[in-house]
Amino acid sequence: MAKLYFHYATMNAGKSTMLLQASYNYRERGMHTLLFVAGHYRKEEDLGYISSRVGLESDAEMFRSGDDLFERIREHHQSKTTHCVFVDEAQFLEEEQVWQLARVADRLGIPVMCYGLRTDFQGNLFSGSRALLAIADELREVRTICRCGRKATMVVRLGPDGKVAKDGDQVVIGKDAYVSLCRRHWEEEMGHIPAEDMIGFSKP
Ligand SMILES: [Zn+2]
Repeated sequence: MAKLYFHYATMNAGKSTMLLQASYNYRERGMHTLLFVAGHYRKEEDLGYISSRVGLESDAEMFRSGDDLFERIREHHQSKTTHCVFVDEAQFLEEEQVWQLARVADRLGIPVMCYGLRTDFQGNLFSGSRALLAIADELREVRTICRCGRKATMVVRLGPDGKVAKDGDQVVIGKDAYVSLCRRHWEEEMGHIPAEDMIGFSKP
């Protein structure tokens, strides 16, 4: 039985590295993999690729809103037998596209490995992540740590001024930086904890 997997984490946890390594493991054994990456924030004419901080890189197809991923994968599979599908930036999938990927596992018998963020900088689920958390066969958390050493599950966005963004669009392309934090330090940075409740909440 092929399965739909969701590897989720916060920013800078090494998800793309894991994806590329897993794809490489298939290819090393002579098997064919098909890689997707979100095209939402890339130019139409750009070539898709997935790169990681440790230097691994691979070409990838882009997915955009409204694409029928089941049809695309089915057509690809007919011309070249595909052993595994990988999806990076899976948080940007639409709910319907997650169902299409589930059908790739269920009806084409091809495992689908999705990698993405669970929540945005305001602590809200992304559309793709919500659907994947709901229907994926296997959920796997990719761990990274906060500055305090606890597990980081949240992310704050720093604007060009270096200050933590409290509101704004879910995704901003540009000079913004992201820092992964544990929930406790995320709430402090977001100003959710009133000053009188800060006892015991000292920053390291
Ligand atoms: Zn922390």
